[in-house]
Formats: sequence, C-alpha cells, structure tokens
Amino acid sequence: MSDKPEYSAWFESLANPGERYELDEVVYTDRDGGLLQVVHDMEELKKTSAQGWKSLFEDRGHKNEWPYGSGVWGKKEWVLPGIDNENVVSMYEGHSNLFWAERYGRQVGVEDLWIKLCGNSHTGSFKDLGMTVLVSMVKEMIARGASISAVACASTGDTSAALAAYAAAAGIPAIVFLPRGKVSLAQLIQPVANGAIVFALDTDFDGCMDIVKQVAASDGVYLANSMNSLRVEGQKTVGIEIIQQLNWEVPDWMILPGGNLGNVSALAKGLDMLLELGLVDRRPRICVAQAEAANPFYLAYQRGFETFEPIAARKTMASAIQIGNPVSAVKAIDAIQRYDGVVEQASEAELSEASAEADRTGLFNCPHTGVALAAMKKLIARGDIRKSDRVVVISTAHGLKFVDFKTDYHRMQTEDLIPELPNPPIELSASYQVVRDRMLEEIERRFHS
Ligand SMILES: *Cc1c(COP(=O)(O)O)cnc(C)c1O
Repeated sequence: MSDKPEYSAWFESLANPGERYELDEVVYTDRDGGLLQVVHDMEELKKTSAQGWKSLFEDRGHKNEWPYGSGVWGKKEWVLPGIDNENVVSMYEGHSNLFWAERYGRQVGVEDLWIKLCGNSHTGSFKDLGMTVLVSMVKEMIARGASISAVACASTGDTSAALAAYAAAAGIPAIVFLPRGKVSLAQLIQPVANGAIVFALDTDFDGCMDIVKQVAASDGVYLANSMNSLRVEGQKTVGIEIIQQLNWEVPDWMILPGGNLGNVSALAKGLDMLLELGLVDRRPRICVAQAEAANPFYLAYQRGFETFEPIAARKTMASAIQIGNPVSAVKAIDAIQRYDGVVEQASEAELSEASAEADRTGLFNCPHTGVALAAMKKLIARGDIRKSDRVVVISTAHGLKFVDFKTDYHRMQTEDLIPELPNPPIELSASYQVVRDRMLEEIERRFHS
C-alpha cells in the first residue's frame, strides 16, 4: 500500500451541499434547478504543503510531459483529478502572458498595472481554459460507456469557437447555436472551419440558451455552457496562474468584464483554493465590469444585491457580454461579496475610447477588455484604486477577433460616436513630394505639438 493521496472531486448543489453527483453523471443542475459546483476533497489536497504545490506547478510549466505542460492541466489535481491522462483533450492552453503595461498605466494613473492576455490562446479567448476540461470529461465519459451523441452550446461567439476546436480535436460532434448577425465574422468562421454544426438563430443569446437547454434535456446531447460547472474548473486557473506569474504575490485589484458571470465565479473559486491551501494569505479586490446596455449585475449591485432581476440585453459592441439573464449570477454575487468587490459599467463611448487609448500604448484590445479598462478608469477617478495599487486587468479575448469594432472606430463609422483617437490610413497618390510633405506634417502634429 502506498500513502499516495487519492484526490477526488464531485458535483454538489450550491444551495444544498448534501446533494451530490459524480462528475461523469449527465447532470447540469440540482433537483430544484439551481446551480451545481465542483467540490474537491480539500483534506487530501492539504496533505501537500503550500510550497510543495508551488514547486510542482512551477516544474510542470512550459514542458511537454502530457498533459501537465498545459496551464490548466499543470494543476490537474486541483481541476479534474479523476480523469485518465489519455482522455485529456488539450492544446496546451493557459500560460498566456501577463505583462506590465507601463506606459498605459502611467497615462491612467496606476504605476503597477498588469494585463493578462487571455486572448493569446488557441481560439483567441479565455474560453479555451474551461473548454479543455469539459471536452476532456466528455471524452472520459464516452470511454466509460456513456452514450453522448454530441456536445452543444449557445454562445455569444467565443464559447462556440472553443467548443468547436476542442470537440474537433477529440473527434466528438459539436453543435453551436449563435444569435444570427450578433457575433463577429471571426467568431462565426471558427466553428464553421472546425466542422461544427452551426445554427444561426433569429434570436439573442438568451434565446439560444433556451433552445440548447431543451436539446440537452431531451436529445442525448451534452451541454457545454458555463451552467455546466466543469468549465468553471478550468477557468478558475486564470487567477491561480496570474498569482503564480506575480511570484505568488496577491495584487490589490483584479478587473474583468462579465456577461454570463461564469468567469468571475471561476476567478474567485481559484483564489479560494490558493487561500485554503495556504499558497497566499490574502484576497485581492475584484471588479466586474458590464456594458451599460447589458447590465443586470450592475443594477443588482446598485440595489445591494437585495434582488437580482434579469433584463432584456440591448445591443452592445461588447457582444460577448450582451447577456440579460446571466446563468452564474448567484455564484458571482457570492464572489463579489467575499472579495470586497465592486461592479461597474461602461457606455459604448467609454468602452470604445478606453480600448482605443490602450491600443495607442501597444495593446490591441477586444471591446470587452475596453469595458474593463473603462471601469478601471472610473475606480481610479473615484479613488477606489490608488496610484500605488497593483492592478491586474483580465483581457478576455484577442482584438483580432473584433476587427470590425476597430475598423468602424478608426473609419469614424461607429454609431452615435465621434471618436477621439481615430487613425484612418492616409490615402495619397504615390508621389515622393506629396508623401514627404504630409509625413513631416503628421510627425510635427502628432509628436511635437
Ligand atoms: C465569455 C466572454 C466574456 C464574459 O465571461 P462570462 O463568464 O460570460 O461573464 C467576456 N469577454 C469575452 C471576450 C468573452 O468571450
């Protein structure tokens, strides 16, 4: 007999902890329709010291030993311990760069500003972190004999791209339901290219969600939305990874955009584990940023979370967070309350300008990151964020997925907006004299006046 720890995890009802399910059961909610969460046997995990975990995570990073070289699977014991390594479906996601945004930080008035570029990932958004876990579990379930005909999701664009890629890598059929005309071309073409069955429906995200829930309930299709708490297990590594990248020092603030609110729930869950297992000794404050056009969480925060009312989300350029009835609201409220959090919002003009301003310092932001940056500026203006605070902004997707947003801005074609920093290409005849005069004029105007 070895005394090697036997790690385990299971689903548990959030409202009623006695109600448990195995992770290979096809179950998305508790008996009352409430959220489930994945719970780990913390006593087993505590048998390894904080230093032991830090060394293990550091040793595994950026190496090729399957599957631990992935930023998610390098923390397998904390994520999904029971799965056979052969069934892991990974593209070595995670390990995205966290960089010191020195020039932008100086401009906005925080010297210690860091940006976590989750969009530098296989499908260009943080959704890869959760999808590797969900699709791996599906592969494991199929290997154990489950009859699952396909995996399906409703999506504002990035979830479907991640699902399609991981399902294609595993050879599992994927079905995605998108709101027609409400996702970017780049987001639409990803599941198309990966061979998913792509439905573009005449509704919004919330309408797609209703359809996928029915399909999952009746047709042998496995649900891949973040209502499925397996995704949260992968996504929770983002906070752990950020703190690892900061040499295990906890920043003062973490700011991220929120729509369905799975990501903020995941962030808090990862940070909880760091605390409970002694790798850190304090909490950062968390700020969730919403688009003003889709702000049910902001409104609930304004009411002190006494009630949570879904709304009909209006159109926003931050299309991935155009959600009126967020699935993970209950978990997110808990996260905000425990992490001394705040919820902010940004108008279309504020998110556009914040994104453009940051781009001018070398970034290339998606509109959702623009929402987070605009929220950060409000917290700085109010004095909630102080000049000496260490702030980490979680950038959720790559700007290249949202070129229309940027093109419209720089062509000055954004609806109801006169942009402050447009930089359209200068179209001239190919004459040296004409080009030279204009070039010298632009250098003078932009950099010396
Ligand atoms: C999904 C997504 C979000 C929102 O995350 P939630 O978990 O739904 O709150 C933000 N930004 C981008 C780019 C996304 O794809």
